[in-house]
Amino acid sequence: MEFRRVMESGPLERAVRSLWGEYQTKPIRHVRHLWRLWQLHREFDLTPPSAEEWTWGFQRGRIPDCFACLDNCCRGPHNTVLLRLVDVALFVDRGWTDMLTWEKPHFSEEVLSRRPMLRDMLRSFHWRIFPVLKQDAMGRCVFLSEEQTCTIHPHRPWVCRTFPYTLDIPGRRIGWSDRCELPVQAAPQDPTARALEQAILHNFYTEKIRDLVLVKVYKEELHKMGITRWLRLD
Ligand code: SF4
Ligand code: SF4
Repeated sequence: MEFRRVMESGPLERAVRSLWGEYQTKPIRHVRHLWRLWQLHREFDLTPPSAEEWTWGFQRGRIPDCFACLDNCCRGPHNTVLLRLVDVALFVDRGWTDMLTWEKPHFSEEVLSRRPMLRDMLRSFHWRIFPVLKQDAMGRCVFLSEEQTCTIHPHRPWVCRTFPYTLDIPGRRIGWSDRCELPVQAAPQDPTARALEQAILHNFYTEKIRDLVLVKVYKEELHKMGITRWLRLD
């Protein structure tokens, strides 16, 4: 999945990935990098995850039964898609920026008290600085077809790839979204379950950490690439 996406990526997405490669392979030479990284380490756990070290909030092997589902998780304010940095880069490369918006939904205190993970998302760094996907007047994602399929499936955002698995990085816990009420229990080795585990633990985690590092440490470089036009940086 990751490999295919890299092969099909456009110039801005490749530039973002290459900046991440530079961070991972080259020594940090500038004092400003060191200072910002030190601040970042104080605020966030940047350690790569291992499945065995994290707590699982459900029995491993659980997968969504999307074909039997009469609901669809691609609609409604609770299912607003929050983008990652590479998603924004992909949208710019493909000329889809009209589908991004800063008009984000608001939720009542009553709703937030029942949905702690939603509250966490609204307080997150990502919610502050990244746009979301537009929904139409009926509250459906603009990429959802009449047949209830995703019209950009190979390029769908990261959050769509890993749903309904959720990741609580400070708590080092993998959860199951209460927005998906149709799970089936497969064997832990089931390929779909394994793919979801792989995506949530490595790809999605990396995307979150990559965003943090690049936005905090490489702000000037991102600005030169032109991507900060679609972000809300301080
Ligand atoms: S709510 Fe769950 S089962 Fe239904 S379409 Fe979404 S992920 Fe699939
Ligand atoms: S991008 Fe595709 S998978 Fe994601 S919410 Fe929209 S229609 Fe659903």
